[in-house]
Amino acid sequence: MNIILIGPPGAGKGTQASKLEDERGMIQLSTGDMLRAAVAAETEVGLKAKAVMERGELVSDEIVTGILSDRLDEDDVQDGFILDGYPRTPAQAHALDALLAEKGMPLDYVIELVVDEAALVERITGRFTCADCGEGFHDTFKRPKVEGVCDVCGSKNFKRRADDNAETVKQRLEEYRKKTAPIIPHYEPQGIVRRVDGMASIEVVSDAIEAILDGE
Ligand code: ADP
Ligand code: ADP
Ligand code: ZN
Repeated sequence: MNIILIGPPGAGKGTQASKLEDERGMIQLSTGDMLRAAVAAETEVGLKAKAVMERGELVSDEIVTGILSDRLDEDDVQDGFILDGYPRTPAQAHALDALLAEKGMPLDYVIELVVDEAALVERITGRFTCADCGEGFHDTFKRPKVEGVCDVCGSKNFKRRADDNAETVKQRLEEYRKKTAPIIPHYEPQGIVRRVDGMASIEVVSDAIEAILDGE
């Protein structure tokens, strides 16, 4: 099963993709994670992307489509993937159609996480992740079970993203509204778009997504 999770920054795409990885063995393909890895490694792509990401703007379609295309050729994604954060523009949606056709990979569902914009600033400014295993947490909504210790790997090192501040969030939401939300209708004729209430708890959202994937 191959799906796209779509929704504004903070909607819960990464959280749900990681649950689907654990529960179904699907592979999360987060272009944001790929770009952050490139920035950290100071590759040519990373050097180009860093300032753009810190401003909350979108990295060029060519760069992002290039890294995604390479990733889709790897063995582990052949049994099912979750696209998290891609496609984000009409050009990327068209590029993805061509990539999937060329690689013979079908798209089963496009799941939109529908959220109230007013909640997103709090979701994003409270977000942090384990620096060692990448598990996601939140200051209010998903605190580690033991204060200061990662539930998954026991690490005491956490990190916050440079772009997870109230200022940059405004720009990122603007990009979502203008460039990303308009691509959802692109998938309507295929009858694969599903909507989930992203304001529910993490568990309830997860159950709703599982029900869609189980064809309920
Ligand atoms: P996205 O990948 O869409 O940007 P994340 O999955 O990183 O969003 O979620 C943003 C923050 O909100 C994280 O700190 C996460 O723990 C928290 N979060 C995710 N889903 C929910 C939810 N349904 N209710 C409350 N908080 C949530
Ligand atoms: P979120 O889901 O919280 O908005 P992501 O981790 O998906 O965050 O993306 C972080 C940043 O990485 C974006 O603001 C953008 O600069 C860049 N980025 C990620 N994916 C794409 C993409 N598909 N196209 C262009 N830029 C991207
Ligand atoms: Zn951890």
